[in-house]
Amino acid sequence: MSENTVPTLAQIIDVLDEVYPRRLAESWDSVGLVCGDPAEPVARALVCVDVTDRVVGRAIADGAGLILAHHPLLLRGVDSVAADTPKGRIIHRLIRAGIALFTAHTNADSARPGVSDALAAEFGLLDTVPLSPQPLRPMDKWVVMVPEGSSDQVSEAMFAAGAGAIGEYRDCSWSVVGVGQFEPQAAANPAIGTIGKRERVDEARVEMVAERGLRRKVLAALRAAHPYEEPAFDILELAGTDSDLGLGRVGHLPHPMTAGEFVALAQRKLNGPWGVRATGDPATMITTVAVCGGAGDSLLGAAKAAGADLYLTGDLRHHPADEAMRGGGPVLVDAGHWATEFPWCAYAAELLHERAGIVAEVFAQPTDPFAIHCGPGQ
Ligand SMILES: [Zn+2]
Repeated sequence: MSENTVPTLAQIIDVLDEVYPRRLAESWDSVGLVCGDPAEPVARALVCVDVTDRVVGRAIADGAGLILAHHPLLLRGVDSVAADTPKGRIIHRLIRAGIALFTAHTNADSARPGVSDALAAEFGLLDTVPLSPQPLRPMDKWVVMVPEGSSDQVSEAMFAAGAGAIGEYRDCSWSVVGVGQFEPQAAANPAIGTIGKRERVDEARVEMVAERGLRRKVLAALRAAHPYEEPAFDILELAGTDSDLGLGRVGHLPHPMTAGEFVALAQRKLNGPWGVRATGDPATMITTVAVCGGAGDSLLGAAKAAGADLYLTGDLRHHPADEAMRGGGPVLVDAGHWATEFPWCAYAAELLHERAGIVAEVFAQPTDPFAIHCGPGQ
């Protein structure tokens, strides 16, 4: 996008979808555009964890045309957005002010750089990989025998159907020439050879990959382009491997430190509204650290399996934490839900500025619902 043109909301959404692909969202999640007109120009955005009334007030005061939020405002089905309901009121305020709302939730958790990358970066974690990697999309390997001279037309048809794409490369294939053999029977209508006579033909064995979801389309293209009445082909389901995308991150501290030092560092770095609490012995030496922004109960087992000395997340509950501790799990550090997700806001704002060329600011006041705090001795 050029420097001086104000992008449309649709253009900004294209950028967000590229960085936080919606297919990475968990099945129960609700991500994407909640309200707003994709045709409208947007020059300014506000990034937040939760869309609260105060966030909307700030967006209106700033003249923002877009709020990019981590948490969905409308996660479950709604029957009404009447202005006398808490969420309906927010929707009304947004639409009246011409402000779009876009959510990047678990897709922003699993993407790279995502929510847990921003959290890991606060502690300088090195060589991070997902705690719960998403599998690569299921792939097929196609092997097609094509008489020499026809392999280009068959390959091109399969490419056009989406086969042959590997990462940032397209039209990828591999071939070798061999000898095919067949004998057309009485009712056959052979492109090469005669009924009842054994035929030997120089054929190319053409190989390429395709996403499994494209199988029907690729097969139709193959059959339409292949000169034979009965093309010979194999479809091999490739074994699944993990991608480098997924929930949580685990990596190494640049310099080992004690659990007590880490907890103090977490309070300084994250500065959550209600502090940091942790399990275990403060003298435990910490090298390998797992992190998950938000509520990380579900990855307690993954953090232990990854060999983490310490697991930093939010919203840990008594029983899962107690069981993980008794099971010899890592030191558990709970820095709060909002505080462990907030570092992402700066990443997302920079992304909007760099990739969409708009002004993007962060709503930095905690939107954690626990606003009153009283510790021992206070
Ligand atoms: Zn969250």
